[in-house]
Amino acid sequence: MNSVEIRKNILSNVRRIVVKLGSSVVTTDKGLDRKIIRGLSDEICAYNKLGKEFIIVSSGAVAAGVRRMALKEGARTIPQKQAAASVGQSRLMAAYDEAFSRHGSRVGQMLLTRDDLTNRRRYLNARNTLMTLLSWGVTPIINENDTVVVDEIKLGDNDNLSALVAVLASADLLLTLTDMDGLMDCDPRVNPNACLIPVVEDLTPEIMGYAGGSSSSIGRGGMTSKLEAAKKVRMSGVPMIIAKGKTTRLISHVLEGEMIGTLVLPAKEKISARKHWIRYNLQPEGDLYVDAGAARAITQKGKSLLPIGVIRIEGEFEDGSAVRILSPEGAPLAVGLINYSSDEMQKIIGRQTPEVDWVLGYRRNDEAVHVDNLVVL
Ligand code: GLU
Repeated sequence: MNSVEIRKNILSNVRRIVVKLGSSVVTTDKGLDRKIIRGLSDEICAYNKLGKEFIIVSSGAVAAGVRRMALKEGARTIPQKQAAASVGQSRLMAAYDEAFSRHGSRVGQMLLTRDDLTNRRRYLNARNTLMTLLSWGVTPIINENDTVVVDEIKLGDNDNLSALVAVLASADLLLTLTDMDGLMDCDPRVNPNACLIPVVEDLTPEIMGYAGGSSSSIGRGGMTSKLEAAKKVRMSGVPMIIAKGKTTRLISHVLEGEMIGTLVLPAKEKISARKHWIRYNLQPEGDLYVDAGAARAITQKGKSLLPIGVIRIEGEFEDGSAVRILSPEGAPLAVGLINYSSDEMQKIIGRQTPEVDWVLGYRRNDEAVHVDNLVVL
């Protein structure tokens, strides 16, 4: 199949779409770009009638708030940015609400944080809310809850958030709209002969290198963070298209299979939703260094990690926490959920499984990390 056929083939089956809009798309230097928001709602409402569902991940709260409050460049502390997001988020929602209401359609706001997507119960609650909104025909509009998170506990950027949402919602496509045409083979600001890469099959180091340090002028994430998002969705079998947002009827052009932007193909072998959550939503709380035999068993033979294979641990964790598993030299091999706390692990490192009983007085599991809870990197 050539790249045109590949694209048509992928897009013919797309029903649920996450559209991610960067700040540079939904705002101008004067504030919110209502024309873009209306145009988007026109397209989405028309497609809703054809049975397609959309989830919007929209940035723009901070940018809109900064403009509304006429805050000066450079004079922005973290609390100021958070307060700006508070002012801007309500304006952002009002703009979406007004645009969709013109078609008799409704929108619902969801503000998420990393904690919401790390805690399995909250993750599932978020999923239930999302599914209920969609079943009502309401378009969810999602943003990070900027007013309560600071950089250290942030999801990072809305590129990451949109990827996690696409997986959470079992979407068929992540469409990321930005101020660039897509992934270029070199920086177009430096080289006028830069060429757009229409299809990316795999995110090799060479492809990642094309993203360079490119960044959008107002949003947080540049092309690198878009490709990081692509890594996450493609592992879950979701294709992603990165395209320039300020284009008339962009969604229709994309869904009709026109060669716009960069299409990142889904991975041939995808991982389950649960393993995806372990790999991408959880923050590892500790490190387990394992011997060469255990490293081979995990990475090549698809086996669980037993206490006997662990050489050393670092960090403090509870049973059920996410941990990294590293080679004797410290190369990350896998992440997984541990069955024992760090205190317990200290006592059973290097022990045969039956010995765990008399060392601890009980044996919760034979495995330190069961293969079902382990994702090889
Ligand atoms: N949540 C931020 C906002 O709405 C944007 C973060 C981002 O663009 O990655 O302003």
